[in-house]
Amino acid sequence: MNAAITKSELLSLLEKYGLSPNKKLGQNFLVDENVVRKIILFSQTEGKEVIEIGAGPGTLTVYLAKTAQKVVAVEIDKKILNVLKDVCQNLSNVQIVNSDFLELNVKNLTNNNKVYVVGNLPYYVTSQILFKLFKERKYIEKFTIMVQKEVAQRLLAKPGTKEYGNLTVAMNFYCEIEDYFYVSKNVFYPKPEVDSAVLRARFKIEKPNVDEKKFFKIVHACFSTRRKTILNALSNQLDIAKDDLKMIIHMAGLDENLRAEDLSLDNYIRLYQCFEEGFFKS
Ligand code: SAM
Repeated sequence: MNAAITKSELLSLLEKYGLSPNKKLGQNFLVDENVVRKIILFSQTEGKEVIEIGAGPGTLTVYLAKTAQKVVAVEIDKKILNVLKDVCQNLSNVQIVNSDFLELNVKNLTNNNKVYVVGNLPYYVTSQILFKLFKERKYIEKFTIMVQKEVAQRLLAKPGTKEYGNLTVAMNFYCEIEDYFYVSKNVFYPKPEVDSAVLRARFKIEKPNVDEKKFFKIVHACFSTRRKTILNALSNQLDIAKDDLKMIIHMAGLDENLRAEDLSLDNYIRLYQCFEEGFFKS
């Protein structure tokens, strides 16, 4: 078993299989054992069933396999799969799945337990993966993801800041972020342009009691034009008279001149409830 940790070990494995990192697939591989160990410890996956997104050459996979009960290593790239198989060949608790994570049915990969998800995410598809996790939340307890620092800042953002947006509201709606830490771009090969962050979140057991489609329609409408007030943004997006919108906003205890980034999750829920009372009844 090769841990594929140092840069030279990774390079020799890539060379063995005639590969070079595929930029389009977001292949920036971890090459720092300390960071790998830190992520594994941080992920709290000991004794758990784990799904790893984007296993690549198996750098995290082999460490996860040491303590997790089972690891399902998902990887889209057939070529890097040869390295992954090589590295994991003696690990009986690793199942390799060659698939696009976005297309997977998470339920089929579990033994009826809620799984822990871990992944150094391919950055080109981070938001889609997050929304996929939200969609599959019934089967997931916690997830630990490595994302670009700037994405982490959006996920962690507080109302009233420029980083606060749709993604922040969705994250707060579904999850509680438990903890996070930043990682230097120097621990990857090839080295990406920006630093990263590792973030651990758990799905809320009781999420807000709303119709999600309608709720996020309102949230998206508010954020559709960030420079506008919520009144103007909603008026642009929804086929509802401005005076009625004003009334709903006031009913929610909000000022019509606020902007989307000023509203907390609770504000959005209250706004949704007022829409529900007034307009979504039929
Ligand atoms: N886990 C390895 C590590 O930490 O070094 C590799 C991480 S690399 C940032 C992201 C990996 O995700 C790549 O191996 C890439 O091929 C894979 N990937 C990209 N898009 C994917 C998708 N839609 N589904 C599954 N894997 C994907």
